Amino acid sequence: MQPAMTYSVSPIGYIRSCFKEKFAIPRQPHLAPAARGVLELVPPFNHPDAVQGLEQVSHVWLLFLFHQTLEEKPRLKVRPPRLGGNRSLGVFATRATHRPNGIGQSVVTLEAIEPGRLKLSGIDLLDGTPVLDIKPYVPYADAISTARNTMADAPPLEIPVIWETEARAQAELHGERLGEPLAALIEQCLTQDPRPAYQIPSPERRYGVRLWDVDVHWHYPEPDVIRVLDIEFAGV
Ligand code: SAM
Repeated sequence: MQPAMTYSVSPIGYIRSCFKEKFAIPRQPHLAPAARGVLELVPPFNHPDAVQGLEQVSHVWLLFLFHQTLEEKPRLKVRPPRLGGNRSLGVFATRATHRPNGIGQSVVTLEAIEPGRLKLSGIDLLDGTPVLDIKPYVPYADAISTARNTMADAPPLEIPVIWETEARAQAELHGERLGEPLAALIEQCLTQDPRPAYQIPSPERRYGVRLWDVDVHWHYPEPDVIRVLDIEFAGV
C-alpha cells in the first residue's frame, strides 16, 4: 500500500462574487447567467504573462476550495439537496461541497480579461472562494454528447417568481447603482427555490438572502410560488 502523502496547494486568486452567503446560490454554474463576479489574481499570477492567450477562450474551468465547508474528517456518504436531503449517496457519486480535500469545479463564462483579474458570469461561487487553478474549456473534449447521469438528468425544476411592484422598482434602482443585472439575478436564483426540500413554508414566514450589497426578502404565498417582498440596501 502507498504511504499516505500530503501535498500543499495555494490559491492563485480569490473570487469577488454577487453571492455573500451560501444560501440561494444555484447548485451548478450557468443556472443563473446573471451571477457575476471577478477572479482577483494574486502575485505572481496577476502578471499579464499568466493569462496570455486566454482571450481566445469563451469559458474556463475553475478549480477551487469549498472554503466554508472544509472538514477534518472525510465523509464517505452525503445527502445531496437535489435528492431532497433525505437520501444518502457515496460522496464520489455527487458534487456535494462536503468532500475529501474540499475541491470544487465550475465551468464559467469568461466575460473579460483585465489587468490582474478575470470578469466572470454564470458563477456558483461564494464571495472569498480561493481558486486553485484556471483551465480553458475545450469543447471537443469537455462536451460529451453521449454523457448520461440518471441522478441529475435535467436542471432543477423552476417555480414562478412574482414581485411586489415596489420590490421590482427597488431591484431596478439598485441594479443601476451597482451596474449589475440585479433583478435578473434575483429571479434566476429564486426560481430554483432555495429553501431546503423538506421545508413546507407558511405564507407568514419571510426568507432573505444578501446579493451584492442588498438584502432580498421573499415569502411563499403558496407552497411553490415565490413573491419578492422588498430589496434593502445592506449598508456595507
Ligand atoms: N460546480 C461546483 C462543483 O460541482 O464542484 C459546485 C457545486 S456545489 C453543489 C454548489 C454549492 O456550493 C452552491 O450552492 C454553494 O452553496 C456552495 N458553495 C459555493 N462556493 C462555496 C465555498 N467557497 N465554500 C462552501 N460552499 C460553497
